[in-house]
Amino acid sequence: MLDYDLHCHSTFSDGTLTPTEIVARASERGVTMLALTDHDDTDGLLEARAAADQCGMTFINGVEISVSWRKHTLHIVGLGIDPMYEPLVEGLKKVRSGRGERAQKMADELAKIGIGGVLQGAYKFTTNPNMIGRTHFARYLVESGHCKDVKSVFNRYLASGKPGYVPHQWADLADAISWIRGSGGIAVLAHPGRYMVGKHSMGKQTMHELLGVFVELGGGAVEVVTGSHTPPQYAEFARYAEEFGLMSSCGSDFHGPQESYRDLGRLPDLPLGCRPVWEHWQHTSALKAA
Ligand code: AMP
Ligand code: MN
Ligand code: MN
Ligand code: MN
Repeated sequence: MLDYDLHCHSTFSDGTLTPTEIVARASERGVTMLALTDHDDTDGLLEARAAADQCGMTFINGVEISVSWRKHTLHIVGLGIDPMYEPLVEGLKKVRSGRGERAQKMADELAKIGIGGVLQGAYKFTTNPNMIGRTHFARYLVESGHCKDVKSVFNRYLASGKPGYVPHQWADLADAISWIRGSGGIAVLAHPGRYMVGKHSMGKQTMHELLGVFVELGGGAVEVVTGSHTPPQYAEFARYAEEFGLMSSCGSDFHGPQESYRDLGRLPDLPLGCRPVWEHWQHTSALKAA
């Protein structure tokens, strides 16, 4: 079991625990290096860092940026970023700004199939209303008895192609990578095994094209071990990382005790031969940055 967890969410995006609670839970579970990677927002980092300092845990500033590439929505995790870097601050502000309008459209679509009152209901589940997203809708639809759990809501209403899904234009891949790199961070392609085309993962050819573009734009790592990958996918993405000269990252993608594939810190080791992202920081001052 690895004691590094470089991907998780707090109430600043769509997690259910505060940054302080996340750090406490990670620490209880033996995590020694943690990155908080809220979607499109870095406002939880100060609180998380203060909590991590209290319990002697190494903390890495992170973010998970929503990106549109061709017809796909991708998630690019930035690790070791400077949350004050102006282009990153402005870029994230712009990415967040589309969320309110999108939420309204999602509620309109759900109303058309007879499910009303969803917008207000979803906002009730946000702590940071600027970051309203599908997970908040899902929690409301569970609470109001439409589905038994969050996973079923996505399968029935919110995944691509389902009645409550509204296509959205997120950040450009090139911009997201440049904000991360410009702020001193490493850009990581998050959970690559989860980019679906219909019922299947993105095909090999598309994955090759994506990784080619990602490397060309300055991407640095692939998330090899993540809560939603199967063991064969750990091996598959370790091979891709090697082929493209990328480092490897790992993180639970924890969102809350009831909703996650994996709890904080409960991750298998990276496959042999992977170059871990954290080796990079052991030679820089990123770890010590306040
Ligand atoms: P959004 O950024 O609003 O599109 O929401 C994306 C978030 O929805 C992801 O970060 C996950 O937390 C969650 N999500 C996406 N697909 C699923 C799924 N199939 N089951 C559960 N949660 C999902
Ligand atoms: Mn999420
Ligand atoms: Mn993600
Ligand atoms: Mn995530």
